[in-house]
Amino acid sequence: MTETDFDIGIAGAGLTGRLMALALAHEGFSVALIDPRASTSRPAQDDERTTAIAFASARLFKRLGVWDPLDAGACPINDILVTNGTPRDAFRDGGVDGQSLHFPSTLLPEERGGGEDGTALGYIVGNKAMAEAFEAAVQAAPLITSLYGVGMIGSETMPGARQLRLDNDKTLSVRLLVACDGKHSTIRRQEGLRALSWPYAQKALVFNIAHEKPHHGVAHELFCPSGPFAILPMTDNRCSIVWTEHKRSADAYLALPENEFLSAVEDRVGPSLGQLSLASDPVAWPLSFHYVPNPVGERLVMAGDAAHTIHPIAGQGFNLGIKDIAALADVAGEAMRTGLDVGHGSTLERYAKWRQFDTASLALGTDVMNRLFSNDIAPIRWARSAGLGLVQKMDPARIFFMRHAGADVGDLPSLMRPF
Ligand SMILES: Cc1cc2nc3c(=O)[nH]c(=O)nc-3n(C[C@H](O)[C@H](O)[C@H](O)COP(=O)(O)OP(=O)(O)OC[C@H]3O[C@@H](n4cnc5c(N)ncnc54)[C@H](O)[C@@H]3O)c2cc1C
Repeated sequence: MTETDFDIGIAGAGLTGRLMALALAHEGFSVALIDPRASTSRPAQDDERTTAIAFASARLFKRLGVWDPLDAGACPINDILVTNGTPRDAFRDGGVDGQSLHFPSTLLPEERGGGEDGTALGYIVGNKAMAEAFEAAVQAAPLITSLYGVGMIGSETMPGARQLRLDNDKTLSVRLLVACDGKHSTIRRQEGLRALSWPYAQKALVFNIAHEKPHHGVAHELFCPSGPFAILPMTDNRCSIVWTEHKRSADAYLALPENEFLSAVEDRVGPSLGQLSLASDPVAWPLSFHYVPNPVGERLVMAGDAAHTIHPIAGQGFNLGIKDIAALADVAGEAMRTGLDVGHGSTLERYAKWRQFDTASLALGTDVMNRLFSNDIAPIRWARSAGLGLVQKMDPARIFFMRHAGADVGDLPSLMRPF
């Protein structure tokens, strides 16, 4: 085989790129992790967001040794409550109205981690905490070389390798390039990979609140006419809010004085959490959809937001990237064990086949869900309520949705299987 500088080059050291590097090094590959951002800014200091980590994704964190530093700050989700409600009527008498769907973790079968003494449906984890935990593990991994402050400006394939051109006038040869360079992926454009892309007319207002009464580990999703409003439990009597609004309204809410903004939040959250205060500044995140139907090329794999950027309505974007990581670790690890070239077309074809259906169904499913739930058209509102009421009465249907939310469905890669 041709000699290369590294087995695998990863472009992009966001959450996906760093976890990808750890998973591939865990399989025994030498990895170069490249990112134009300087190392001092590695933990995204401006990112106060949290991420809902599905319970099957948490298994991968545990297997890669990055769960322990996150454990104390990760808030378990014991129950998910989905309510079809306007801000006015979503909560009644301190509780939810009759048109809600309940997903208690105790409903999950024991072999999937549920039951009375079962584990959580997922965890709310801070993005900064994840960035720091992943970075510490990357720096401690002998097989990973981090090249921060260096951008990849292009690459060419050659027999047995891909040559990466860096913006410091150097080149690197690798057997496989993994593009984790985010939703505006330059590599996707340079390689001419076909993508379905569209912007959403919504923005997500993201911030944390502190509250007087306990949340009991319940995550709420309120379907309001302008878009979903999520209340996600954090540690220390705090919740993370992801409030999707039409772009213009989102900007108008952001421009309000703090007391008026808070009162708009109180209208939506209702009285169940008692007195509220803001625990971080609200930030508006623009939302868009990108999906690459065929996420591979010659000695190239796309992963994470570079391959699929989806609406945050179901909190599944990074969880999809985690499945990419686990699937690539499996197919690449098997190639190594059988003496195959990790960048060979047959290896990449297996990855593409494994990821295509899951990604397409979740990406398009979340898009349809957002369109269906972000409106106040009477017949659709009625059908939503009827649908939620019906599913509430059917335990198998609820378990089906819970396993989807837990990323615990289909042919799971080894890093995500139950222990
Ligand atoms: C409001 C909101 C809420 C969300 N909530 C959830 C949730 O609850 N659960 C969930 O699973 N997901 C959630 N997501 C999605 C999740 O945040 C993303 O899927 C995840 O952060 C994507 O990480 P990434 O590493 O793929 O991309 P990015 O974070 O965009 O990282 C890309 C990296 O590539 C680098 N880069 C760019 N160009 C180059 C180049 N030429 N060479 C090398 N490197 C390059 C960049 O510097 C960057 O570091 C949410 C998203 C939003 C917007």
